[in-house]
Amino acid sequence: MSAINRTGFLQESQWHAKLFNGAWVEARGGTNPVREPATGQCLTQTALANAEDVAAACQVAHRAQPAWQALGPRDKAEVFRRAAQLAEIHFDELALFVARETGGSLLKGSHEVREAVVLLHQAAGLLSQGHGLILPSAAGRLSYARRLPHGVVGVISPFNFPLVLSLRAVAPALAAGNAVVLKPDPQTPVSGGFLIARLFQDAGLPPGVLQVLPGGAQAGEALCEDPRVGMIAFTGSTAAGRKVAETAGRNLKKVALELGGKNSLIVLEDADLPLAASNAAWGAWLHQGQICMATGRILAHASIADELTALLVAKANALQVGDAAQGQAQVGPLINERQHVRVCQIVEASVAAGARLETGGPGEGLFYRPTVLSGVRPGMAAFEQEIFGPVACVVPFESDEQAIELANATEYGLSAAVISPSLGRAMAIGERLRCGLLHINDQTVADECINPFGGRGHSGNGGSVGGPADWDEYTQWQWVTVKNEPPRYPF
Ligand code: NAD
Repeated sequence: MSAINRTGFLQESQWHAKLFNGAWVEARGGTNPVREPATGQCLTQTALANAEDVAAACQVAHRAQPAWQALGPRDKAEVFRRAAQLAEIHFDELALFVARETGGSLLKGSHEVREAVVLLHQAAGLLSQGHGLILPSAAGRLSYARRLPHGVVGVISPFNFPLVLSLRAVAPALAAGNAVVLKPDPQTPVSGGFLIARLFQDAGLPPGVLQVLPGGAQAGEALCEDPRVGMIAFTGSTAAGRKVAETAGRNLKKVALELGGKNSLIVLEDADLPLAASNAAWGAWLHQGQICMATGRILAHASIADELTALLVAKANALQVGDAAQGQAQVGPLINERQHVRVCQIVEASVAAGARLETGGPGEGLFYRPTVLSGVRPGMAAFEQEIFGPVACVVPFESDEQAIELANATEYGLSAAVISPSLGRAMAIGERLRCGLLHINDQTVADECINPFGGRGHSGNGGSVGGPADWDEYTQWQWVTVKNEPPRYPF
């Protein structure tokens, strides 16, 4: 039996074993039981889309898009405002559901819903902005450039912050006049998909303009292949992103990639250490480290590395591990068994290679305790790999030059941070870090969803989400000229 509220905004009876194509319909791909990571309980059951379901959705979206594009900006904006209002009215129910489905705390669930409201208002705001240019041209010729939607945009999103990571693409893509086919991760199909479908359904989005199909890699690949899809907005791992880029490239689609990270926080020797430890703990353990911007390396000047490690150990031991959605725990479960095994392997391999396990390690079931590894060095798995688990890796350094070298010793390039009261020195270090997001006197996890967000290198093709970047991402320029009558050419 599912654990979902049967009378609230999110009623399972609407979507049990179904997908959303403007209405709730059965899928060809089968069904998808959704387990709550903290309890193992079946939360709900959705459809699992296959390639045929994706093709059918793309066809419907393709047909629905022109009328949506033609709708006046005020009418479109109204849909986003109503959706935001619904998210606010049902805030508590939505926040709890997101927390439960993702294995997060209520704080994390609430954060996602608050951000969703902002994203919806921002999408409404896009519709009152000018989005064209009058260009200089020959006498008697009106020449202008205007932004046109891609048509159908495919959005593929991950499990960790599913509501925000889906909506940050869905909302601006729709506002720009596209139809959207959204494929959330099948582990979090409600937070990353059906919740959004419910908001837009009740807000009056015309049927067919948004399709939501929970599905796995096969459904994602079908979306990247479909000729009616003009653009793919992908958020997920670098390995899957590479496949998505290959398929989208072969089919000549635009592709926006938001991928993994191995982000460094550099703590200089003059830093306030209790404050730096709090920053490092937040960056490394928030949502069990399952964040692309998580602090994956804590680079500490050798003279303060031991003291910082001791402060982190005290913090780790004071945190409660458990069902963070319902109780007082700050650290919840990992998303699945595969991920739990992976975190265990990375920590074990690093200890075998000479790192010290100061505290932490596996807990029961999917839980993994906040962990501190000290003496982490290049070559160790914990230094090299994105862990996506609550592991703080302390890496000592001797000089600013070495800190920069260690921070840049990765193919990722998402986020980086420096903590020190010497602002000039911290900024000089920051200037030389290869990253898309740089924070001086903060940790690495920060996203205000109105700023361009994105990574370099193996973290993606960068700067593609938020604020002015949305126009660049979800539209393509068209050049238009107008004359009174056709000119006479030489032949
Ligand atoms: P994942 O790549 O396994 O899955 C992400 C999505 O891609 C899911 O919907 C999945 O079903 C789909 N998918 C998987 N293989 C596919 C394929 N071959 N073709 C098309 N779609 C496919 O990632 P995950 O493990 O769920 O998420 C964690 C990863 O995502 C981490 O690496 C994390 O850093 C990254 N991430 C990045 C950002 C960012 O903004 N840069 C944000 C969140 C997560």
